[in-house]
Order: sequence, then structure tokens, then C-alpha cells
Amino acid sequence: MKTIIEPFKIKMVEPIKLTSPAERETVLRQAGFNVFQIPAEQVIIDLLTDSGTSAMSAEQWAGMLRGDESYAGARSWYRFEAVLRELTGMPHVLPTHQGRASERILFELIGGPGKVIPSNNHFDTTRANIEHSGARAVDLVIDEGKQPRNRHPFKGNLDVSKLESLIQAVGAHSIPLCMVTVTNNSGGGQPVSLENLRAVREVCQRHGIPLFLDACRFAENAYLIKQREAGQRGRTARAIAREMFDLADGATISAKKDGLVNIGGVLLMRNDDLARRANNLLILTEGFVTYGGLAGRDLEAMAQGFTEVLDEAYLNYRLRSVAYLGEHVLAAGVPIVEPPGGHAIYVDAAAFCPHIPPAQFPGQALVCALYRHAGIRAVEIGSVMFGQVDPDTGESAAPPMELVRLAIPRRVYTQSHIDYTVEALVEIYQRRDTLRGLRIVSESQALRHFTAQFEEI
Ligand SMILES: *Cc1c(COP(=O)(O)O)cnc(C)c1O
Repeated sequence: MKTIIEPFKIKMVEPIKLTSPAERETVLRQAGFNVFQIPAEQVIIDLLTDSGTSAMSAEQWAGMLRGDESYAGARSWYRFEAVLRELTGMPHVLPTHQGRASERILFELIGGPGKVIPSNNHFDTTRANIEHSGARAVDLVIDEGKQPRNRHPFKGNLDVSKLESLIQAVGAHSIPLCMVTVTNNSGGGQPVSLENLRAVREVCQRHGIPLFLDACRFAENAYLIKQREAGQRGRTARAIAREMFDLADGATISAKKDGLVNIGGVLLMRNDDLARRANNLLILTEGFVTYGGLAGRDLEAMAQGFTEVLDEAYLNYRLRSVAYLGEHVLAAGVPIVEPPGGHAIYVDAAAFCPHIPPAQFPGQALVCALYRHAGIRAVEIGSVMFGQVDPDTGESAAPPMELVRLAIPRRVYTQSHIDYTVEALVEIYQRRDTLRGLRIVSESQALRHFTAQFEEI
């Protein structure tokens, strides 16, 4: 059979309110043309993020009821620890409330002034936690990873020669660890190959630098390796994921992605001394080592989620549904970051509306058009998010691209929802010259994309 179906049935439904164009016009104006200010109930298809938005399975919900809420040594903790150990081979498993809590603990221990932490691309919370510690975060993704139309199969790869140069320049002693983000979220959800992970590992080992994964989307990365890397077709996603973890000395994970849960995180490591110090910090700020700021039921849901996510039928459907969205809009001429990534499609808004200059926010114009036309909520990743002038330095971090991200929640939407999204985007593309730029009427000092108010030009 050619059609790849959703490998699940729907047991419980959450109604979607189908708003009219007139209602959406009112909502959009009330929100000051900022979709972060729109109540979720007024959204038909919510593609703002794939983080914490997964639908849980019947087994996960059953686990929630079985959750053991004992303070220390709960049954749910032992199950969670066993699942993570088997999945990753890491001896030390620390539960945290979400990914950034793992990052905060790790970088408080190994960061600090004078330290440099390389990665392919640091995610924004990772970078923020590194910089908060006083250390410097450096992105070393391969050049192909920055070219929207380049169809390199592993655009998330870390450039090994750039890593060697960085080590030459700052000295291995200033690099407490090297990170690799799988898949590379900030770089378009693009995967990292096993070959690249092995090469990075080799360089790190030669210089005595530990290698950590930011492994939020480890399962999607493993399946893209299976599909795209020579010699990997015959292996299971589980075996590939295990090899990825075997190459690393530790990992931070937000379980809100491939953990298939709505809240939760993990910090993993091999080094006993580092783990002892991390456990002390965990107790200080998150909770005792057998619950880490979560309820026993959350640990059950994570244990089950980390098991289900490696199901090959699920991964095949998941990667296919994202690629399906990408290929269909691409066929109609819509410019996107190619090839489609693991969890989202990124539309190149600068190419989509060339008549709108970056100063008038082409990405925001497209985000508003998607909401107006079809009630779809996407997110701007361009001049609104990154173009703000820093009040201290007077500098603006001009973004390399004007993108609009359509992130697909896991197991939430069916093919007809995706078809509807394709249709909406293509219809807007056909009358793209009618889209209007925006100007900001009010903004906050930092992270303005959450609260800024706009008006149309
Ligand atoms: C989401 C994410 C994080 C942070 O996780 P939270 O659970 O949101 O704190 C870190 N790294 C990557 C790559 C992510 O996608």
C-alpha cells in the first residue's frame, strides 16, 4: 500500500471551534497582530510549537493512574530509570521538569567565565543558560545548514574542521564539553548523521573534551539516519538511537518533544563525580533525585512515551506527515527550507513576499495571513524574534533568514488537517502580492516577539 496512515485510532476528541473570517479579523486586531496574544480556543490548527503539545496514548494515561507518588524510591521512578538506561546506556539518569532545567544544572556545573561551549546550533534556552553562567556559546553547523535550498541530507552536521580551529584558538582546557543538537532545532529540524557524530567524537576524544547531546528529538534523528544514511536502512531506530547515545558522555533532553509528554525532562551522564554534583543541585532546586520536580505519574507517562516513540510505524508516519506538508507546498512553488526537517516546515518568508522589506517583517505578515485566512497559528522566526536592538550594546542581531515555522504536534492532527494547511498556504501564496508589511507600535525591552503590538502598513 502506498498510503502511510496514522498508526493509531482516536479514543478521545477535543473539539475545534471553527471560526469565521470576520471573527478572526476581530481576534487578530485585538491581539495587536501578534499570534502569541491570541487565545488558543480561537485557533483552528495550532502549529506554534511541537513542544509539550503531543497527544498521549491510552497506555500513557493508564500509567498516569498507576503513578506511584511516594516521595523517595517510587515504583514509577524505577520504571523511568530502567527505560532511560536501556534506551541510552547512560548509568546516571536525573529527572527534571523540562529541558532547560537540565541545561541550567549542567552549565552551572561546567560553565562559567572564560569557558567556551561549541555546538552545531545551540537552542535558545541552551545558549541562554550557557551565557547566564558567564560562558560563551558557539555555533559550528556546516555551511550547507545555512542555505535554505541546499538539499544536503544532514544539514544539522557540526563542521569538524571549524571545531578543530576553535580548539586551536581557545585551547581544549577552555572547552568543558561539546554539544550536538539532534535534530538541529534552530537549524530547521535538520538531522545529524552517525558519520558526523563519530567524527565529532573522535576530535573530542583526542582533546579530552566530553561530548553531550541535546537529544530532544533523538528518535526523529535516528529515523532520518535510517532513511538517509548509507548502510543504515536495515537497522532499527532503537539500535541507531542507542549508537548515537553510545558516542556521547551525556545528554540533556526535553521530554516535551520525543518523550511524547506535556511536561518533563532528563539529564543523563556517565561521569560519577559530575553526576554526584548534579544530584546535589537537583535536590537544591528541582526536587529529590527520584522525582526531580515531577509527579510520579509524570515519570510513568515519560517512561511509556520514550518507549512508544521508537515504534517504527509511528516514526515512519511522523516523518512522512511533515515531509508531505513540505512537498505539497513546494510543488505549488512555496519557498521552504529544504529538505523538510523532522518536526516542522520552515517557509522562507523573504522569498515568499519579496515586496516586504525585513524592516516591515515579511514573516509576521505571513503569520497574520495564515491566521486570517484559515485560523492557522504559526510562528515568525526572523526580524521580529531576533532583530531587536539590544538596549545595552545598541546592536541588533540581524537574523540570517526571515522564516515562518509550522511545527507539527505529535499524534494530534490527521491528514485532512495537513491538507487544509497546504491549501491555506498555497492560496495565500497565489495572492502573495496583497500581503502587507507591519510596523511595531509597542514592544518590550527583551524577547519582544511574545508581547509586541503591531499595525499594518
Ligand atoms: C525545547 C528544546 C529545549 C528546551 O527544552 P524545554 O523543555 O522547552 O525547557 C532545548 N533544546 C532543544 C533542541 C529544544 O528543542
